[in-house]
Amino acid sequence: MSMSDQSVLIVDDDPRICRLIKRVAINMGFRCDTVEDSDHFFNRYLEFRPSIILLDLKMKGVDGVELLRHLASIDSESQIIIMSGVDSRVLDTTRRLGKSLGLHMAGVLPKPIDIKHIEEVLSKQYQRFSAGKGVDKKVSISDLEAAIRHQHINVYYQAQVCLKTGRLTGVEALCRWFHPSLGEIPPDIFIPMAEKFRLIKPLTETVLNTAISDLPKLLQLNDNLTTSINLSALLLSDLQIPDTIEQILKAKQVPAHNLSVEITESAAMEDPSRTMEILTRLRIKDIQVSMDDFGTGYSSLVQLYRLPFGELKIDKSFVMDMLHSDEAAAIVKSTINIGQTLGLTIVAEGVENAKTFKMLQELNCDYAQGYYIAHALPLNQFLQWYQRHLKSA
Ligand code: C2E
Ligand code: CA
Ligand code: CA
Repeated sequence: MSMSDQSVLIVDDDPRICRLIKRVAINMGFRCDTVEDSDHFFNRYLEFRPSIILLDLKMKGVDGVELLRHLASIDSESQIIIMSGVDSRVLDTTRRLGKSLGLHMAGVLPKPIDIKHIEEVLSKQYQRFSAGKGVDKKVSISDLEAAIRHQHINVYYQAQVCLKTGRLTGVEALCRWFHPSLGEIPPDIFIPMAEKFRLIKPLTETVLNTAISDLPKLLQLNDNLTTSINLSALLLSDLQIPDTIEQILKAKQVPAHNLSVEITESAAMEDPSRTMEILTRLRIKDIQVSMDDFGTGYSSLVQLYRLPFGELKIDKSFVMDMLHSDEAAAIVKSTINIGQTLGLTIVAEGVENAKTFKMLQELNCDYAQGYYIAHALPLNQFLQWYQRHLKSA
């Protein structure tokens, strides 16, 4: 795929900014158009159908938030990058607002804008696009159905380690789809497909079966560790799910307390009373429950406290930003403090380098997960990683 399959629309009432970004985008091989007057925005949008929109938050006569609402009302699929000189908190809340409207918020570009930064955000979009976006047009729902039926859905494991001791405390089971002609397809593509076409339950059962069958091998490394599996929001309305999980554990003779179920913050808060019921039943069965992607929803830690979570995973977007953003660092720090006060174990996800690992140690965070420690690996490679990890500790 070439970059010219991707188009960028720049919306800014400052013609100099439009020209600057346009030059950079065209040099990178994107197709590009600009809009300086917000009145023309929608016509240009509908004609050009950009895959990426760079949107100025403050324009004459209209603010970017209004344009976001319009884009949401027509179910825009474009990746949106917002630009502005306003302070980074406003940029960040605007990003969240867009996300809550169902838009694809791809990032922010604080002003003054420099060329390097433009290149960075655009090339990120390109990587994202070539890593998957093209694929979802080629795979069909019947392919996915067949993959689930023929067990072409594999489970990879990513380590979680104790920040104090370096000891392996658990793994997260992450699924991968190996397509016979397209190769590995990332879950960000096929999980939403599975959710839309009622395949999420059989998919989750496949993952559960594999992960629970693999668990005894992992327990040989540390009989206290947990395997975490991800439970889609849709399955929170399935009151059978705790029984289904328990049956698989019993069939494979694996202790329930070695399994943990991750539910995202936003899924948990969609219908708190139903979540409460499912979580309580999981806990009664001795299965652990963990709140995933904390910080991306809108719940307060008080709401969270009412639900029987034992663990909280700080979303990787905050952890990945904490070295460069004071706000992200403050969110990580206060989540650790309040979460621990409430008796939760805190996991930081997205730990990509030694500096972040060290900072989390200083903040007294409990566990870490991320590329700095290990990528998600097939079971055999995971076991090899573990041997190397033991030696390096
Ligand atoms: P998640 O639950 O937040 O999983 C963590 C994702 O972050 C994984 O992506 C993991 O590979 C990635 N990651 C881990 N460490 C780092 C890091 O240091 N830096 C960066 N940039 N990324 C890191 P993956 O495997 O592509 O999974 C994406 C999402 O797909 C998961 O996000 C989860 O929401 C969903 N998913 C994966 N497996 C399942 C599943 O079996 N069932 C359901 N319902 N969802 C799943
Ligand atoms: Ca997860
Ligand atoms: Ca997560």
